[in-house]
Amino acid sequence: MKILVFGPPGSGKGTYASRLSAKLGMPHISTGDLVRDEIKNQTEMGKRINDYSSRGLLVPDNVMCQLLQKRIAQPDCKGGFILDGFPRTIPQAQELEKISTTDLVINLQVPDAVVIERLGARLTCRNCGAIYNERFLKPRTPGRCDKCTGQLYQREDDRPSVIQQRLELYRQQTQPLLEHYASKNQIRNITNNQTDVPP
Ligand code: ADP
Repeated sequence: MKILVFGPPGSGKGTYASRLSAKLGMPHISTGDLVRDEIKNQTEMGKRINDYSSRGLLVPDNVMCQLLQKRIAQPDCKGGFILDGFPRTIPQAQELEKISTTDLVINLQVPDAVVIERLGARLTCRNCGAIYNERFLKPRTPGRCDKCTGQLYQREDDRPSVIQQRLELYRQQTQPLLEHYASKNQIRNITNNQTDVPP
């Protein structure tokens, strides 16, 4: 089964996809994590894409497709995968169709005001990418990840001015893709407008 998880930044894609991954025993591929790993490891690609990511801009399609292709080619993806954060543009959706089929799109619907409130308080583990929230999903030890004891930090792109930019890009570039998947009858909508559910 090939599942795509769609939704604006802060809609809970990462949390949803990782829970689904544990339930179904299929890998969770977050393209945001792939991007952050390249940046953290200071690869050549990481140096090129850091500027886009920290400003809340989309990484160029050719780079993103390269990263995704490499990940999907790994043996653990043979039986299916849960894709979180890809595709985000029409060229990415076209590229995905060349390398894989898709079965289901889970579309998380969350109002902007909720996104802004949630992301402003989000903390991310520098080491494993686990997500916490300063208000309602606190780590056991302040500043440290429960799972791996890694350092927690606020992502560059979770600053309020950058959040607006990401929401805008989502509306312009990603939302139109839903029509494409709706025509294939693959979308399941899930609405969530509570602030106390972590992204
Ligand atoms: P969110 O969905 O909360 O914005 P992600 O963790 O999915 O965050 O992505 C973080 C950043 O990584 C994005 O703002 C963008 O710069 C980059 N990125 C992730 N996935 C893609 C993609 N499919 N295309 C282009 N850029 C991407």
